[in-house]
Amino acid sequence: LVKNRKIVLVSRPIGWPSLENFRMEEEEIPPLSRGQVLVHHRFLSLDPYMRGRMNDGKGYAPPQPLGQVMLGGTAGEVVASRCAAFSEGDTVVGMGGWQEFSVVDGELPGQLRKVDTGLLPLSAYLGVAGMPGITAWYGVRRILTPRSGTTVVVSTAAGAVGSVAGQLARLAGARVVGIAGSPEKCAYVIKELGFDACINHRAHPDAFSLARALADACPDGIDGDFENVGGIILDAVLLRANPFARIALCGMIAGYNGEPIPLATPQLLLLNRMKLEGFLISEHLDLWPEALAELTQLVASGQLRYRETIAEGLDNAPAAFLGLLRGENFGKQLVRI
Ligand code: NDP
Repeated sequence: LVKNRKIVLVSRPIGWPSLENFRMEEEEIPPLSRGQVLVHHRFLSLDPYMRGRMNDGKGYAPPQPLGQVMLGGTAGEVVASRCAAFSEGDTVVGMGGWQEFSVVDGELPGQLRKVDTGLLPLSAYLGVAGMPGITAWYGVRRILTPRSGTTVVVSTAAGAVGSVAGQLARLAGARVVGIAGSPEKCAYVIKELGFDACINHRAHPDAFSLARALADACPDGIDGDFENVGGIILDAVLLRANPFARIALCGMIAGYNGEPIPLATPQLLLLNRMKLEGFLISEHLDLWPEALAELTQLVASGQLRYRETIAEGLDNAPAAFLGLLRGENFGKQLVRI
């Protein structure tokens, strides 16, 4: 029998979550049945969507059941297998959850994916070459379609999705302006990721102030917005948008803890004949192979850079998750297990 430690959701937060919403539990994993695979997780991915799942009621993903292990993406190693498709030692990614081990039905398609750690480090398959990277790829390639001579704004620019989105838009030839939450993040976005400019949103108390900073950073206006935040950031972008500008609406993290995020000037969508498209990357699984192949190649060749913030130990996952919501992460937030 294998002893497993896991973190379960014990209560649903109202507003900001707290450590009390989570509890560590232990259990013994029984021997594998036919077709099953035992995965030892090395990395857990922490993502903003998990906040939505902690709520009851309608969201874009079903609620996380109380008393059960928190859902989440994992990267790890197969330590036992009764499935012909997987062998001991295979490195895999899946949705193993906030726990040390998971038992997966290896015969169900899409549950586990083998990854090549000769090409990229295992952790990268949860970030730049995983779900966040593919999200960026979709929003940039399929919605914004930037080209030389255009200007693209990217919010949460130092984060997992935003850092990739901005670099992809830059590789396509656009002028790219990031929005991030500290001078250190902005310096990283410009110097290491190659954005043309970056604005610290915390220096701007309202949309008009932020719009003035955007006017300076985007002298030719804004043609594309990779929107991860909403609230005053989206308001400010609308004030500087060009006719026929596009918005890839990827996230609205400014409202994930119940904050109201009304749109101040929606009439600008009409006046500028804009196209706003929301998307969920989970609905575009058919594009994952194409996107992953390209992202992996761009990282391996050094054209796409990334950074990770790694919390040590499963015990620290709840605190790291709260830190992610507060903006304490630089790049992809992971937990080493
Ligand atoms: P990040 O790594 O970007 O981490 C979240 C960041 O959000 C924080 O670091 C913080 O950065 C920023 N943030 C938090 N609150 C605010 C606020 N009130 N105003 C401005 N910035 C804030 O996370 P991800 O890259 O994983 O996700 C980024 C966005 O993409 C999220 O909105 C997420 O929901 C969305 N997403 C959507 C998907 C889809 O399929 N549509 C798939 C994956 C992600 P800072 O310090 O810069 O403020």
